[in-house]
Amino acid sequence: MGSVVLSLDAELGWGFHDMESPPTARIERARAGWERLIECFEAFEVPATWAVVGHLFLENCDGEHASHPAPEGWFAAERGRWRSRPDLRFGDGLIEAIRDSAVAHEIGSHSYSHVVFGDRGTNRALAAAELEASVSLARERDLSLESFVYPRNDVAHRDVLAEHDLTCYRGRAPARELDDLPGGRPLRKLREATIDAPPLVTPRRDEFGLVNVPASLYLFGFEGLGRSIAQSIWADPVVRGVKRGIDAAARREGIFHMWLHPNNLVAPRDVRRMEAILAYLADRRDRGAVSIETMGEVAERVAAR
Ligand SMILES: [Zn+2]
Ligand SMILES: [Zn+2]
Repeated sequence: MGSVVLSLDAELGWGFHDMESPPTARIERARAGWERLIECFEAFEVPATWAVVGHLFLENCDGEHASHPAPEGWFAAERGRWRSRPDLRFGDGLIEAIRDSAVAHEIGSHSYSHVVFGDRGTNRALAAAELEASVSLARERDLSLESFVYPRNDVAHRDVLAEHDLTCYRGRAPARELDDLPGGRPLRKLREATIDAPPLVTPRRDEFGLVNVPASLYLFGFEGLGRSIAQSIWADPVVRGVKRGIDAAARREGIFHMWLHPNNLVAPRDVRRMEAILAYLADRRDRGAVSIETMGEVAERVAAR
């Protein structure tokens, strides 16, 4: 029997602060989506790994971050368009809502200010500053960070993670044979969501002692017109794919690792997707067919082997 892992990139405005035209609907729904997910997880008693942007631990800031080695202008959104939007820059109760939930969630890190670790401009000192700030802000709240989710899934500077006592990270989903099929990206995404079961993954320890817990499936990677058409024919294709993934984890060893952002819950159908997934998962768990783990629990298990 395998297990199922759910991880979340919890960032409010920070996932988009460096973009010229950020997706407004997602940003405006980020806070509500976060609260809604906590309710959904409680309703089905499903724990998740919440990788939280460290800046959200702050109650306020000067918008300058003069001692932070980020490039000039990195915090410009705080001083400009989001100057009067503290709701996008600070957690203001959202981290406590995870911690105080009746479900035993894990709180991990999604960096301090969503610096993309694999960017050419991200040197070791910048990566270290992002981790240092995140770890110490968490420590002020008696939290020790174990799991890391890379902004934009850009895996780099793993040695710096290990130095800051992180124990695991979410690696990229394995490449699939489907990627070579003709038909282009929309068709490939449709196939991924409907024809094939998403892959189970195997966690492995790397040369720095970190456990890589690769992703299996991004739950909101198949959107737009394609989703509307597919959904009108077959109900929600992502829910179908997820059920196959959970069933595979029930039959074999391995992990089915889903991930999303709270800001993916933009419309009622997005909430319905999550409820359908969690209901199926909770049912299989209650029947003893699969277990549910956090990334930190996976890392502990692998390290103990
Ligand atoms: Zn700030
Ligand atoms: Zn992110």
